[in-house]
Amino acid sequence: MKDYLVGGVNSPVRTFRGIDHPPLIIRDGRGPYLRDLEGRRYIDCIMGWGSLILGRAHPAVTAAIARAARAGSPYGLTAPAEVELARLVAQAMPSIEQVRFTVSGTEADMTAIRLARAATKRTKILTFEGCYHGHSDGVLVKRGSGLATLGLSGSAGVPALIARETLVLPLNDVAALEQACREFGSSIAGIILEPVPANMGVVVPEPGFLRRVRQLATQIGAVLIFDEVVTGFRLGLGGAQGRFGVRPDLTVLGKIIGGGCPIGAVGGARGLMGQLAPEGPVYHAGTFAGHPISMAAGIAVLSRLAQHPPYAALETAAQRIDEVVTAAAERRGIPVQVNRLGSMLTVFFSAKPVKNFAAAQASDRGRFGAFARELLARGVLIPPSPFEAMFLSAAHTASIVDRAATAMARAIAKLA
Ligand SMILES: *Cc1c(COP(=O)(O)O)cnc(C)c1O
Repeated sequence: MKDYLVGGVNSPVRTFRGIDHPPLIIRDGRGPYLRDLEGRRYIDCIMGWGSLILGRAHPAVTAAIARAARAGSPYGLTAPAEVELARLVAQAMPSIEQVRFTVSGTEADMTAIRLARAATKRTKILTFEGCYHGHSDGVLVKRGSGLATLGLSGSAGVPALIARETLVLPLNDVAALEQACREFGSSIAGIILEPVPANMGVVVPEPGFLRRVRQLATQIGAVLIFDEVVTGFRLGLGGAQGRFGVRPDLTVLGKIIGGGCPIGAVGGARGLMGQLAPEGPVYHAGTFAGHPISMAAGIAVLSRLAQHPPYAALETAAQRIDEVVTAAAERRGIPVQVNRLGSMLTVFFSAKPVKNFAAAQASDRGRFGAFARELLARGVLIPPSPFEAMFLSAAHTASIVDRAATAMARAIAKLA
């Protein structure tokens, strides 16, 4: 693998270094399962990092993909499926009137930020430590030391000058947010966050936090961007904004809305979206933007979700895992925090509640690694990093969830 691919992968987490295990090399998958090259089968609790809410190779989705491929796509021109997917998105999320499709979440985040800057004629972006908004320069930024609000470069190649245009605050800290708004309010173009972060592991916002973020954004005249790449159509048809009843100005989507194919999207009210080219001065374009295969797969998934919502069953399944893991850890005296909302969850090996990035980082990574390796040996795949979320799908039936939960209880017993 390493001869031709850097580090043997195309995205760093796939090395499995986070759990000190050789990487899984995948042959194929079906329903809730993945199979590796050696033919070992795993219950998959990653599900394409949350993209595959209906499970792998869902017949309606594969049929839609095959039809779009046979129809000679891509066209590099407009086709009706783009309107249909945009309509399904707008129908589910009342904050969205118009949509611009992109090829990745990264690109959609980048475009949303550019829109916020153009609409406000300001430059600074405020975000929260541990939230992920793709890998463009302005959001590949880490928090300064101590009380510093201006971000530091989070990757080689990101200029310090660009990093300083991003303010980075701890999540769930209303006082820090109010302070930053007082100090920098008139130069903040946008506030961007994952309304329920999944990329430091799952961290559920404190009651009232999102509402306060909304109020402050309005007060300082900043554009509020919810990055719902994970939570959109995961926490319900209306995403986190529906679940918490907080309306952002712009929503960034990805993952689920592409039905397992490459996609991203920015959505919002007509006025703001109309700032985008060709109607407005904010440039965005893409050879593969609105790709017919991604549109077809997305339409198949979103219409199925609307007709047969799996959310109650997903909730029950994730709750079962939550309960079994919590009980097993209690029995063995192993401190864990199961952070969960709907069908996204993370098991943190920590005695203290995990409410922000610092607390996630302070959890016991060694123990997490041992847990994940033990699960692999038992045929259950969870993310190979303590700072990612497990995702279930509609293909994770009660008996499969029971098998996964039992494996987790046994893995915890092994850690004691
Ligand atoms: C995955 C993800 C992205 C980036 O999407 P890509 O398609 O990987 O570029 C952005 N934001 C969040 C919250 C994500 O989970």
